Amino acid sequence: GQASAPDYLTGLNPEQREAVETVDGPVLVLAGAGTGKTRVLTTRIAHILATNRAYPSQILAVTFTNKAAREMKERIGHLVGGAVEGMPWLGTFHSIGVKLLRRHAELVGLSSDFTILDTDDVVRLIKQIIQAEGLDDKRWPAKQFAQMIDGWKNKGLDPAQIPEGDARAFANGKGRELYVAYQNRLKTLNACDFGDLLLHPIRMFRANPDVLKEYHQRFKYVLVDEYQDTNTAQYMWLRLLAQRPQGIPQNVCCVGDDDQSIYGWRGAEVDNILRFERDFPGAKVIKLERNYRSTEHILGAAGHLIAHNEGRLGKTLFTDRVDPNDGKVVVHAAWDSEEEARAIGEEIEQLQRQQHPLNNMAILVRASFQMREFEDRFVTLGLNYRVIGGPRFYERMEIRDAMAYFRLICQPADDLAFERIVNTPKRGLGDTTIRALHDYARARDVPMLAAAADIIETDELKPKARKALFDVVMMFRRWSELLENTPHTELAEQVLEESGYTDMWKNDKSAEAPGRLDNLKELVRSMEAFESLRGFLEHVSLVMDVEQNENLDAVSIMTLHSAKGLEFETVFLPGWEEGLFPHQRALDEGGRSGLEEERRLAYVGITRAKRRCHLWFVSNRRIHGLWQSTMPSRFLDELPPAHVEVAEAETSYGGYGRNPYGQSRFDKQEPFQNNYTTPGWKRAQANKTDATRDNWGNRSGHSVERIGYGESGPRAKTIDGE
Ligand code: ATP
Ligand code: MG
Repeated sequence: GQASAPDYLTGLNPEQREAVETVDGPVLVLAGAGTGKTRVLTTRIAHILATNRAYPSQILAVTFTNKAAREMKERIGHLVGGAVEGMPWLGTFHSIGVKLLRRHAELVGLSSDFTILDTDDVVRLIKQIIQAEGLDDKRWPAKQFAQMIDGWKNKGLDPAQIPEGDARAFANGKGRELYVAYQNRLKTLNACDFGDLLLHPIRMFRANPDVLKEYHQRFKYVLVDEYQDTNTAQYMWLRLLAQRPQGIPQNVCCVGDDDQSIYGWRGAEVDNILRFERDFPGAKVIKLERNYRSTEHILGAAGHLIAHNEGRLGKTLFTDRVDPNDGKVVVHAAWDSEEEARAIGEEIEQLQRQQHPLNNMAILVRASFQMREFEDRFVTLGLNYRVIGGPRFYERMEIRDAMAYFRLICQPADDLAFERIVNTPKRGLGDTTIRALHDYARARDVPMLAAAADIIETDELKPKARKALFDVVMMFRRWSELLENTPHTELAEQVLEESGYTDMWKNDKSAEAPGRLDNLKELVRSMEAFESLRGFLEHVSLVMDVEQNENLDAVSIMTLHSAKGLEFETVFLPGWEEGLFPHQRALDEGGRSGLEEERRLAYVGITRAKRRCHLWFVSNRRIHGLWQSTMPSRFLDELPPAHVEVAEAETSYGGYGRNPYGQSRFDKQEPFQNNYTTPGWKRAQANKTDATRDNWGNRSGHSVERIGYGESGPRAKTIDGE
């Protein structure tokens, strides 16, 4: 009965509790940000375990990031009191896909040690295929085709199924052929791309009903977080696993929020929400309306903004949390991104002085290039930060080179890795040699490393090249022998030394070289957390989260896209300018959908904040190396005055620097005239022709306050209309 309900249930509201306790049959939880959807999923798993409905290994749970998976596992442990003995099937679509595929690789023509290619590898491979077809790869760029393939795979399409128009659109109608050639080549390389991690299991299940049945029996419960962002392939995969033969309960529970669908550009289909009710008849749809995360102001600002979207299912959100001390959402202006980073840095330091942990703060950017400015600034300030969500660290050149060595040791058929490092550092193996080797390998249909081992026995190569290649082959032979019995971090160090790779950077006189050496060290250090080189490689190929020093108190920096599902006391949202946010791509499209997706992204951004939310725009920004004057984002105009205030010129903050008018805080006797503006802002106001816009920021007599933590209270200031 109610009275004896276990602890983990008592804190829930009635709707949440219903979602947790309805364990049999399909359930769809549709609810806004911060209403406890993820908490419901976590508690549901705890409930299933605590009531002995299933073993941990019988639960399939999909999260959007690896980090989210880890957190969920931890929380389940807390709820059921004690560590959960493994939840092998809790992870992202991709990580679960890898696991399935490793078990059944042979059913799709791979062997279980297949390599997972990253985007760069894929593009390089496609370029080779395009060239091999005798096509001009300038006219038909590999990158573009890689995107097309990715798009098809997101829709779950095999070469035979792609739309005729698509197939015709690329390379004089050779689209389909190239897609086939690409898949064949992947098979030869014993490799797959990200899309295949889903498509191969789908193919495998379809072709092998007995295997599918095995998993139907295994997975008694299926759960999916961030359901609004599943793409068609993911949905197909899910449906295969969750739809049971007649008579067997379909214990599937998906939670999501259509207002947070932000991966349409990657093929996500909000319509999957509607499909669910069709494919799982009798599904119970539960709505959660109480927000537990944010202040009234934050919620009010986000709700008002998202109401500008037309294509919504619509929902109510409220909070009981009304505290007169809660500040409004604050809009700040800065001259340029350097000033923006400096001012945010100061704000963070102020909060830190007031004992706010850095872990509770995040900077969420629209585009990853924005990160560098903050990273630079924080390094200067000595502020700890971590970059989350992007493969930034692993994308660095030296890291990719090092990884190529490691990959080739574990997977000798990995030709892309071979080509990347065979002459890095320089060993006198020029293009001619590589081409000869390439042809030799192709003719015999063997991987390049194997071909190298053969060709050095012949006299096809010039003596010098032959000797150099001999050395490479011998090195890899030695390392492969060490693979099983040497600690992998030791092996990694040895590889970087013996290959001459570390020396290459030691001898490099460029300014970046020392940093690269540090990164290599960091790479080896980061391997310690893994049991084997293979485990590490797999991790890296899957990383959606880059954690540096998990335990350090640090500000998080990440893109808005990877902030989904997370929450922080204080959130900084820089770069709210037309062209950056909303992004130029969405504006160029002209249609409504791109812009609405940007607005959902803004909604996601604001709703990450629990207590404090700061929006920024600058009047000058360097984009792709060019300085551009910018206009404040239209999203700023769409915020409700009741929940938002405009800060004074930011240079008055920390006491150094002057605002664009040459004024500093020390000059300030009288209030600045319009000093909350920057030239860009004014120009923007002048340029705006859309009369329907709510230019609240300029409204005559509208009262705003300066935020200033720790100062003598907020100073009221009136902004004069123009
Ligand atoms: P998002 O849409 O951003 O993913 P969500 O709906 O998944 O949000 P959660 O992250 O699960 O929301 O919950 C938001 C916050 O509210 C969390 O800190 C969570 O612990 C808290 N919360 C959820 N439900 C309750 C509750 N019943 N009582 C107290 N706190 C709760
Ligand atoms: Mg969530």
